[in-house]
Amino acid sequence: MGESTTCCIAGSGPAGAVLGLLLARSGIDVIVLEKHGDFLRDFRGDTIHPSTREVIDELGLGPRFEELPQRKVERLNVVTDTGEIAFVDLGLLKSRHPYITFIPQWDFLTMVTEEAAKYPNFRLLMQAEAFDLVREQGRIAGVRYRDEKGEEHEIQAALTVVADGRNSTLPRAAGLVRHDYDAPMDVAWFRLDRVQGDRPDTFLRVGAGHLLVGINRMSYWQFGYLVPKGRFGEVREEGIEEFRRQVADLVPFLGDRLEELDFDAVSVLEVRVDRLRRWYRPGLLVIGDAAHAMSPVAGVGINLAVQDAVAAANRLAGPLRRGVVRTEDLAAVQRRRQPPTIAVQRFQIALQNAFIGPTLQGDRPSRPPRALELARRVRPLRRLMARLLGYGPLPEHVRIPAAPAAGSRE
Ligand SMILES: Cc1cc2nc3c(=O)[nH]c(=O)nc-3n(C[C@H](O)[C@H](O)[C@H](O)COP(=O)(O)OP(=O)(O)OC[C@H]3O[C@@H](n4cnc5c(N)ncnc54)[C@H](O)[C@@H]3O)c2cc1C
Repeated sequence: MGESTTCCIAGSGPAGAVLGLLLARSGIDVIVLEKHGDFLRDFRGDTIHPSTREVIDELGLGPRFEELPQRKVERLNVVTDTGEIAFVDLGLLKSRHPYITFIPQWDFLTMVTEEAAKYPNFRLLMQAEAFDLVREQGRIAGVRYRDEKGEEHEIQAALTVVADGRNSTLPRAAGLVRHDYDAPMDVAWFRLDRVQGDRPDTFLRVGAGHLLVGINRMSYWQFGYLVPKGRFGEVREEGIEEFRRQVADLVPFLGDRLEELDFDAVSVLEVRVDRLRRWYRPGLLVIGDAAHAMSPVAGVGINLAVQDAVAAANRLAGPLRRGVVRTEDLAAVQRRRQPPTIAVQRFQIALQNAFIGPTLQGDRPSRPPRALELARRVRPLRRLMARLLGYGPLPEHVRIPAAPAAGSRE
């Protein structure tokens, strides 16, 4: 028999970390399990959209967040063979934060978990890998995990939240069924130094048969090179010289720096889009990518994960404080978050099918989808696109107050 808590969260990504902070700050006992020893992993997405930025303000973390190294981007530029267009202009938003903040995700997660750790009722266990659920009288009653030595432990909890990302095995262990939707691409990530004279922005480069995202991370570029699903092996077989040549054609200003690029420094991330039919069981809730793996299209997965966390905390903090979470409460979280998730995934799948897949097959000219080009010319549509990208279909706001008795360890 192991220890017990009120809420045990598996996974300290954006969904699990933010939920842990929200519950801890409202006085609830929380344990978060994270399988890695730190948050320093490429590539998990670097974008904080206005919806999440407002949540950060609502948590009173705005000033601390502003101190972190970051870049604020109002316009997202698409560079084609024939020119350059600003596709989305968040400057059109009537918002306190009309921009996307590019910030390394490890800085964001460190800030959130350090803030949570100020509450004595919060614990984060690093190098703790959840591998099974505890079952008791027809309900999920906690989590089993392995520590860094491989020793197994059990945590009993009134509520178990699964937030361990798109490779999570726990939903299946709970009998939850996942639907997969095709994604036509994978992404090969690599970095190269930035030097004076490089373009200053974050951009999408569209070439015939190729797509490449360049993210300005101040001292270096983080590049994402899209390849047709499962085909990076062929790129490898063609050899590093050919890969360098393709990248040089897309981004000529990289010049000599491409000689530093080697396959050892390239990591390939499989793109998946899927969704659980049901996100809960008695005693168990699944949120974030574990419930709905998001494509990188439009870079909104972090924000959806955070919104799941806020919606879950708003709905469940009261029942958790009373010590009884009914299955209806868990169903209500899915009812609230499923429609915006479906809307965003449909948009991602449509863009993948209409634009990304055909571009990578090289059977379309190097140009963005016509519908987007038309929308760009009509100001109300431009504002709507900015609104949807910045806030999503259903932004969430923190509705639970911080517990008056919440103490600080500092
Ligand atoms: C190529 C690519 C690029 C992307 N780029 C962006 C972007 O720029 N912006 C954006 O908003 N979204 C982006 N996304 C989507 C985004 O990364 C996810 O939607 C988001 O990270 C989901 O957050 P999460 O907290 O649900 O899961 P995750 O971020 O996956 O976090 C899960 C956490 O759980 C931990 N964990 C895993 N297994 C266990 C276990 N068994 N026990 C304990 N802990 C465990 C992991 O180490 C991790 O810390 C991208 C996705 C892909 C595939």
